[in-house]
Amino acid sequence: MTETLTSPDLITPDDPRYDQARQAWNLTVDQRPAAVALPRTPRDVAAVVRAAADAGHRVAVQGTGHNAGPLGPLDDVVLLRTTGMTGVVVNPGTRTARVAAGTVWLPVVQAAAEYGLAALHGSSPDVGVAGYSLGGGTGWYARALGLQTNALTAVELVTADGSLVRADARSEPDLFWAVRGGGGNFGAVTALEFRLHPVTSAYAGMLVWDRSRNSAVLGRWLQWALEAPDAVTTSYRVMHLPDVPMLPEPLRGWSVVVVDGAALGSDEQAAAVLAPLRELRPEIDTFTRVAAPALARLHMDPEGPTPTASATSMLTLARGSTAEIVDVVDEVAGADARSTVLMGLELRQLGGALGRPHPGGGALSRFDGDLIAFAGGMPLDEQTGRAMEAAAEDVMRALSPWASGRQYLNFVERPVDAAVGFDPAAWDRLRRIRAQADPGGLFLANHSIPPAH
Ligand SMILES: Cc1cc2nc3c(=O)[nH]c(=O)nc-3n(C[C@H](O)[C@H](O)[C@H](O)COP(=O)(O)OP(=O)(O)OC[C@H]3O[C@@H](n4cnc5c(N)ncnc54)[C@H](O)[C@@H]3O)c2cc1C
Repeated sequence: MTETLTSPDLITPDDPRYDQARQAWNLTVDQRPAAVALPRTPRDVAAVVRAAADAGHRVAVQGTGHNAGPLGPLDDVVLLRTTGMTGVVVNPGTRTARVAAGTVWLPVVQAAAEYGLAALHGSSPDVGVAGYSLGGGTGWYARALGLQTNALTAVELVTADGSLVRADARSEPDLFWAVRGGGGNFGAVTALEFRLHPVTSAYAGMLVWDRSRNSAVLGRWLQWALEAPDAVTTSYRVMHLPDVPMLPEPLRGWSVVVVDGAALGSDEQAAAVLAPLRELRPEIDTFTRVAAPALARLHMDPEGPTPTASATSMLTLARGSTAEIVDVVDEVAGADARSTVLMGLELRQLGGALGRPHPGGGALSRFDGDLIAFAGGMPLDEQTGRAMEAAAEDVMRALSPWASGRQYLNFVERPVDAAVGFDPAAWDRLRRIRAQADPGGLFLANHSIPPAH
């Protein structure tokens, strides 16, 4: 196969660069593709796609590899890595940004801030804009401003026949609908354009309590989260923090409950919104007005390659009846939790603009649930990884009475039937569009949408 691929940057297993080129952000994933391609231009991407198709191989497009977990064996697959295609251009007049496919969030956040603008980035500064945006994308502005995928105005991609296509509301509207939520199933994206927002600062930070306070704090947070105004977006975490230098001194080695997030609006409005949580007297309270770029590191997500093992679920709660779920969370993650391997359980607050249909939106434009639960950690070896994954699954089983049956696929780090990410009508339409755009299934996405027959 590789003789027929002519790109100078094609790396095969016998090449000394292979191990570095195939390395995903998630260090638990040992991906061994037939070859790795490192294109620098859209023309290179088209050449790789055509050559791989001619040679009878599939193409998996990857930026960082944050969601490499679900891909599976890559023996007959060319891994097309976009890491050599980076760059961001902000247009302050139209309040939009254009980024090359391999760009990660931090440089976008910084470039937008120079013009007093903010992007709908997530909690991690080094997650790729492409995978995040094509799969949904929920961050600290999400309950006020919605999913990042709704902010996309155009996507340029190389389709299965090797042509470079621009998909927007007028040109290729079906494709434009499908890539907004349907991820990498429709082609190799070379550039994305999206709206920015005139946000220069937010009232943001974290509240921290000892883990023994979990029941009281979670009970209050759940009621609060269901009723909070759209201006605020938070996350609730029960965590065993490792004793590592990357954490600030008071947090190292501590088992804690953390509520972090951001509120738009004035200091007075934000303080009033947070008052019911502050009443519970957190041991640390860092909420204050911060410049917008500070939100990129608010959550203290690990940067650079990291091993992760996890499980996730979307939850729906009935208002006024949160006591039972508090007991369950306390049992699986509170001070006397059964599992000793699990590093943390996170609940992300949904609702607000995240719950409303977006006019002209794509395959995924809203979340049908109140919370996303995410459990797991950073295993240092395979055995711990398996134990951690099993413990995270146990947590999701315990939370299953509240499971909506839907999943947020960007948070799913193992193979799953991708139908769980969409409502049935959207799923059918995605499969029909896949059958038109890529009938032979050339592209291997992390979460695969099979062509309709
Ligand atoms: C530490 C961490 C923090 C996170 N925080 C958030 C968060 O706050 N909010 C949130 O919504 N999500 C978050 N995520 C999930 C994240 O959105 C997904 O992991 C996402 O898939 C990462 O995109 P990527 O491009 O970096 O990853 P990759 O693994 O490189 O890509 C994932 C998939 O996206 C598709 N893809 C990527 N690039 C292209 C391209 N150029 N063309 C076509 N398809 C492409 C492919 O199908 C690929 O398999 C987080 C994940 C981690 C590990």
